[in-house]
Amino acid sequence: MYDIAIIGAGPAGMSAAVYACRAGLSTAVFEGEFCGGQMLLTPEIENYPGAPKTSGAALAERMRRQMLDLGAELIERRVGKIEKNGGNFTISAGKKSFESRAVILATGAKRRHLGVPGEERLLHRGVSFCAVCDGSFFKGREVAVVGGGNTALEDALYLAGICPRVWLIHRRDSFRAQAHLVERVKNEPKIEFLPFSTVVEVRGEDKVSGILVGTPSGEREIPLAAVFVAVGLVADNAAFADLVALDDSGYIAAGADTLTSQPGVFAAGDTRTTPLRQIVTAAADGAAAATAAEQYLRQKRA
Ligand code: NAP
Repeated sequence: MYDIAIIGAGPAGMSAAVYACRAGLSTAVFEGEFCGGQMLLTPEIENYPGAPKTSGAALAERMRRQMLDLGAELIERRVGKIEKNGGNFTISAGKKSFESRAVILATGAKRRHLGVPGEERLLHRGVSFCAVCDGSFFKGREVAVVGGGNTALEDALYLAGICPRVWLIHRRDSFRAQAHLVERVKNEPKIEFLPFSTVVEVRGEDKVSGILVGTPSGEREIPLAAVFVAVGLVADNAAFADLVALDDSGYIAAGADTLTSQPGVFAAGDTRTTPLRQIVTAAADGAAAATAAEQYLRQKRA
């Protein structure tokens, strides 16, 4: 029986683990993939205080090391279901189940897909959701990035470092991304911006050979080797719908206090209703969730 089971080892989950361990609570962190979450998809991080220029992978590794050094137990399994079991919780992960007194959900969000023909069929064969993971396969080739947020612009800049031309395809002519990224993109001659444009189809037999793009002057085919989709995040909380209330967009209904509709269950980071999804806000949420969980456990014992 663990005091706290943390589901997800992104910045929210790993920060929660640091706080829970320092509070003397026995802490299990469940992660079905790699520790770091969305951070691992980020080539360069400039806005996490104290780490002025670092890669997502390097920051993730420092957080992982820190929580393990403090005594968190990393359980490398994907959690399928969590059920209330008297005053405690049963966590099912593969064929095994685990017990905990409190739960922190820190499962993040997943990348939105475009939903156009060819996207799923050519996934990992030129369609990618991670420039930093897959970009080097397309070194020296022409590629495209779709989206107008921080992720799309960071990906476009990263790819411009290794590719001769990067098409940036966005459905509007202004960006959601932070101004300094927009400025850098405008000053990067290898990035070709196509405003008011959408990808209609990803083309290719067994690998991507081009994309069909709808532009204000009609459809055009752009021959290229890869398309990096960066059109935002969607909630991925269906597995917890019986445990906690979700908001209209499928995120876990919880405020900055991280309290959910289920006593003993807390939600931290991108997975909860929040106006800002950043590494620093996820880490702050982890601290809030672990502190709230500790208070909950103390009251339960009293
Ligand atoms: P985002 O900020 O939500 O931006 C998504 C972009 O994709 C928007 O430009 C949106 O267009 C476009 N889009 C959405 N659906 C589309 C569709 N179906 N077809 C075509 N385009 C579509 O997503 P993100 O860039 O992945 O970032 C996610 C969160 O992580 C944000 O909160 C972001 O600030 C944060 N983040 C921060 C950093 C950083 O601080 N360095 C880095 C990466 C991510 P519209 O603008 O027209 O809606």
